[in-house]
Amino acid sequence: MSNLVDNYLCQYKITLRQLKNKCDEIVGDKSMHDALFRQQLDILKAEGNYRVFADLKRHNGFFPRAKNFGSENLDDVTVWCSNDYLGMGQNPKVLKAMHEAIDECGAGAGGTRNISGTNHYHVLLENELALLHKKESALLFTSGYVSNWAALSTLGARLRNCVILSDELNHASMIEGIRHSRAEKLIWKHNDVADLESKLSLLSPDVPKIIAFESVYSMDGDIAPIKAICDVAEKYGAMTYLDEVHAVGLYGATGGGISEQEGVADRITIIEGTLGKAYGVIGGYIAGSQTVCDFIRSFASGFIFTTALPPAAAAGARASVKHLRESQLERQRHKNQVEKLRRKLDLIGIPHLRNPSHIVPVMIKNPIKCKEISDILLNEYKIYVQPINYPTVPKGTERLRITPSPLHSDADIDHLVESLKLLWQQCALARVVA
Ligand code: PLP
Repeated sequence: MSNLVDNYLCQYKITLRQLKNKCDEIVGDKSMHDALFRQQLDILKAEGNYRVFADLKRHNGFFPRAKNFGSENLDDVTVWCSNDYLGMGQNPKVLKAMHEAIDECGAGAGGTRNISGTNHYHVLLENELALLHKKESALLFTSGYVSNWAALSTLGARLRNCVILSDELNHASMIEGIRHSRAEKLIWKHNDVADLESKLSLLSPDVPKIIAFESVYSMDGDIAPIKAICDVAEKYGAMTYLDEVHAVGLYGATGGGISEQEGVADRITIIEGTLGKAYGVIGGYIAGSQTVCDFIRSFASGFIFTTALPPAAAAGARASVKHLRESQLERQRHKNQVEKLRRKLDLIGIPHLRNPSHIVPVMIKNPIKCKEISDILLNEYKIYVQPINYPTVPKGTERLRITPSPLHSDADIDHLVESLKLLWQQCALARVVA
């Protein structure tokens, strides 16, 4: 080592002192850089908005249980905030399909879709998704986020003079996609069809228009008036782009989402969904006409320039979609358990947002309290519900977002409700008087 230093000093004709000064300078720069980052992190922490991840290991076959690596005794905890809404991430058919595909094809796809990465399982899954939404075609992406980002940025950028009308509560992936497209964006009031129409009515009939919105809004659990939106879209010749990320697998006779449940899927230009939530695996997609899917396939950088999903993920997602197209069991029990939880919360006056979906937001309205309650639930009651704070939700609307699944037992629900009751007393939180 000292030889190395001697050689270096000799080669560059500098003294040991000069070398030390140089090192101090570099370390000084690094800590100055870190100070820039730390400043902003400190603000997050002071506001109570700093995110701490729960270090969990899910137990296959025991959903919704997981081991908490953040606790001294590696406690088993019950997860109450998973987006694996139906427990399909541990469904034996899904796992079998994934194991078989790994044995057949190995781990990764080996390339982008264009250059060697299209595996037959991708093609089969795209066919399955087109069938699910009764569309001509479907196109896979590596996640729901990427599908929104890539599809909307491509549509907005490539359609000359395109105007995108975006619901004000759209997900970050849609907002970023629209922003990246540099198309003109008009934000309409959340779920307010009159406001949407007033904005549409001012646009030239000649410009391409896209109405971008979601079916189930994931934080409040409210549902868009899809039929009415389709009515105004048709009246003004606009396309519709519907994010069904929190609805596919869960709603409709075959899991096609709210658009299927309401019989309006054929009126939507593009349906976007995820394979990472109710389907329990990973990936995102769009479904629409053969031409629109081909258009996005051909121009979207977020589709073209990235490695395709692992074949096993595609095989598992396909098994999951197929299963939920046929089985009503998971959807029915899911609905029952959601209703049961709501009823029991009502009985003890725990305030939760009323909505027609499966999402049960228990409102805390203070970021620090929200984190404290979540910590107590985890450490004392072995219940894991992640606090939801800004920027995921507006400041002052912090909440525990509870997502019951068909695999939460009645005893799990009782334990959750009893724990919340004790906590509400302990923290002197407001209740709703019946
Ligand atoms: N769209 C909405 C409405 C979402 O809530 C999310 C993720 O939570 C996404 C898209 C992204 O989906 P994914 O998790 O598959 O990336």
